[in-house]
This record gives sequence, C-alpha cells and structure tokens, in this order.
Amino acid sequence: MKVKVISILEDNYMYLVIDEQTKEAIAVDPALPHRLLQIVKREGVSLLAILTTHHHWGHTRGNEDLLKEVPGLRVYGGDDRIKGLTDKVTNCQELKFNSINVRCLFTPCHTTGHMCYFVWEDDCSDSPAVFTGDTLFIGGCGKFLEGTAEQMLHNLTEVLGTLPKDTKVFCGHEYTKKNLKFALMVEPENEKVKEMLNWAKARDDDDKPTVPSTLLEEFEYNPFLRLSNEAVQKFTGKTDPVEVLRVLRKEKDNFKKPKDRATLHTMMAMEWGLLQS
Ligand SMILES: [Zn+2]
Repeated sequence: MKVKVISILEDNYMYLVIDEQTKEAIAVDPALPHRLLQIVKREGVSLLAILTTHHHWGHTRGNEDLLKEVPGLRVYGGDDRIKGLTDKVTNCQELKFNSINVRCLFTPCHTTGHMCYFVWEDDCSDSPAVFTGDTLFIGGCGKFLEGTAEQMLHNLTEVLGTLPKDTKVFCGHEYTKKNLKFALMVEPENEKVKEMLNWAKARDDDDKPTVPSTLLEEFEYNPFLRLSNEAVQKFTGKTDPVEVLRVLRKEKDNFKKPKDRATLHTMMAMEWGLLQS
C-alpha cells in the first residue's frame, strides 16, 4: 500500500492510497480534482472511491467534478453536508477495496459528522495508516467548531489513541510548525518537542511535508495527547483530562507568536489607560 501525499491550496493535504498489486486507488479529501486525476494517470491506477473526512470546503470541493469525470466513483463520508456524497458511513463501518481495508471512525467535534479512516492492506507488513482530517494534527488537534471538549477527549483517547502505535498519521493540514511552537510553550522542557520543531522548521524551509508521523511519536510531543503529563497540567492549571483539554484548546485558539502577543499586551494596556502618559 502506497500513500501519495499531495500538498494543495494554502496548507491542505489530499492523499492517494494505492494498491500496488491491483493498481487501484482511493483518494482522501481530493480538493483539487484535476491535480488528482493527473497523478492517477501518471501512476497508472484506477480511482475507485473518495473518503471525505468532513464537509469543509478545502476537503470536499473536488468531489462533484470527480464524480463527473470518473464513472462509477463512490464518495464516502459521515455528513449530509458533504458535496457529492453517495454513501453515508457510520462508526466502525468497514469498507473493502480489494486488498485495502478501511474502518470508518466517527470523531465528531471539529464538525458533527467528522470521520477518520483507519486503513490497512491484507497480507502486508506495512504499518497501517489513519487519515485524521481536522481532528488530530501533527503536534496538535482541530478546533472544536461543532462539538465539546468531552467529545474531543473521546476521539483522541478512545478512538485514535487506541489504534496500534505504529499507525501512520496523515492529517488534513500542514500546521506542524505552529502546533509545535505552542507545544513548546506548554512543555518547555520536552526534548522531543524541541527536536520535532527543529525538524519541522527544516522541512518547511525545504518546502517538504511533515506527514506522516506515527501515533507513538504523537504521544511523545503532542500536548493534546499528553493530558496526564505534569507540565501540561501545570500549564493549564487543571488535572481533570476534559478540563486540561478545554484549556489547552482555548489557549491554542489565542496563541500568537511572542511578538504579536507583546503587541497585544501593549494594546490592552493602552485600552485600560495604563499607558496614557
Ligand atoms: Zn475543517
């Protein structure tokens, strides 16, 4: 099983999962249809299906064009708002495309119909993959746009956190550098965060993607998967996992670069009349 990582739009990823024996493929969030079809052609594969993580524009905008261009194509997803949806899937539903297996993992919170997809190949020693959309990012997690901290805690710890640790994580956006800058503020002593941030900066300089990571790695540096860690609890001032997660996400929503933060403080001080002289 080969996964092609395709950087698109400003910071999105779409993916092509290829069964190298049968030369058949499935796409994940193919938001640039013509680019995808060029790659399908170049790889000499036939496209069977689209897996859609959630209904946001940067993940679904290619679905309808691809349906027109590829006869018999199916579009899977967990939300009626997904453009071109042909097959609505439910939690733990399994799909099979010859030797490629997909388990749909319902992960509502970023959106109410968000699905992650756990993918593995029959009789193959390759690590499995999980396509996490805007639920789990490298070094971070998605915004709670349509859900609660309780739901995200369940998604991260029970649904994704219990997958095999060697599972490769393919997420919906390249947010790694910014996520790790925040992670470093949360855990300033975490060597893995420092290492990973340096690596992510180098990848960014070379214009290379930081996906995939593995779940094992995420547990080492992603604060959203380290809710019981002492430094993470200290940063949030909480110990209950739901509360730790709620505060982390809120802090991340407000997280700016230090320079911006200083400017913000100056502006706030001016507003309060502290800098009037
Ligand atoms: Zn989204």
